[in-house]
Order: sequence, then structure tokens, then C-alpha cells
Amino acid sequence: MSTTRLRIGGMLVGYYRLCPRKAWLSMRGLSMELESDAVALGRLLDEHSYERDEKHLTIEAEVNDPTDELLIPLIGKIDRANLKNGVLHETKKGRSCEDAHRWQVRFYLWLLLRNGVVRADGSPFRGQLDYPLLRKTEPVTLEPEHIAELTATVTAIRAMAEQETPPPRLGKRSFCAKCAFDELCYG
Ligand code: SF4
Repeated sequence: MSTTRLRIGGMLVGYYRLCPRKAWLSMRGLSMELESDAVALGRLLDEHSYERDEKHLTIEAEVNDPTDELLIPLIGKIDRANLKNGVLHETKKGRSCEDAHRWQVRFYLWLLLRNGVVRADGSPFRGQLDYPLLRKTEPVTLEPEHIAELTATVTAIRAMAEQETPPPRLGKRSFCAKCAFDELCYG
């Protein structure tokens, strides 16, 4: 895959944090019905569960790849942004991959920071994971150590995009059962 066309998004960052193999398979355009159903359900939840004054938001940024100083294009498609309250929301069905969900939201907060977008009072935006089916929410913040990890993650994804074969399986874990690629990896 040519890295010149690659724009790295929040979901890919979440996938990579969860399982690099999943990120590689997704980058190759592989998607399965199971995943589509989950996305469709997420969209339904998104449309019917929350306030009307929240907006979808797309934000772009670039970051230097420290290995060769080339710019890596980044894009965030944020589920819902409450600009007045300074909160970015990401809606999820369940918590089986919650660490990946946190990284996805941190990635969006990072893009805002890189573009110098802050609230009217100068404070940074905050993130929130919403689990409407579980009636739970979780706050997400971006700390300085996360920024270094995000830079390392997008650099690693860019390098991985050039690999002709997928990264190895990391051993079956609980979330593999819910992964669209389960049969591909363990069938
Ligand atoms: S089934 Fe497991 S190992 Fe395979 S891509 Fe999904 S998360 Fe990764």
C-alpha cells in the first residue's frame, strides 16, 4: 500500500492499539458483515440517543514522522462534538475494547490540540465515551505522555502500511471473539 495516500484516522489508531494485525487487515479494505452491522448499530444509537445541539465534526492535521521527517496526514471524524461544553463524544456499543476506544478519543483531542483549537475560555477540549446500551459514560483526557504514544503509534502505522504481509496474531484474546476477522485468524 502506498503511504503517500494514507490518511490515518481515529478508528485505525484504536485498531492498532488493540491489535496491529486488525489494523493491517482494515487498511487493506477488508471489512466483514459483522463489522458493518456494528457500525450501523452505532450510527443508530448515535442518531437517537443524544441532544440535537451536538454536531459531527471532521478535523485534519499533520505530524512529522521522526524517522524521515515526512508529514503524516491525519484525519478525525468525530461522532458528536458539543462545542459549547467543549466535549467530544464517541459512541460505542460495548466495553470489550475500551482501551482502544480511549485511544481513539485521545487521537481526536490531539488533532484539535495540533490545530490550536481550544474552548472560548482557552481551556482544552475533553473527551467522553458514551455507552448508551449500558447507560454508562467515561471521561477521556489527553495527557502529555499520550501525545508521545500517539506520535509513535501513527509512525508505526505508516511503516506497517508498507508491509506486504499482515503482522502475526498475538494469541487469541477475549476480544477476538467479537472481531470481524476472527475466522480469518482462527477459523
Ligand atoms: S481476531 Fe484477534 S488476532 Fe485476529 S485481527 Fe481480530 S483482534 Fe487481531
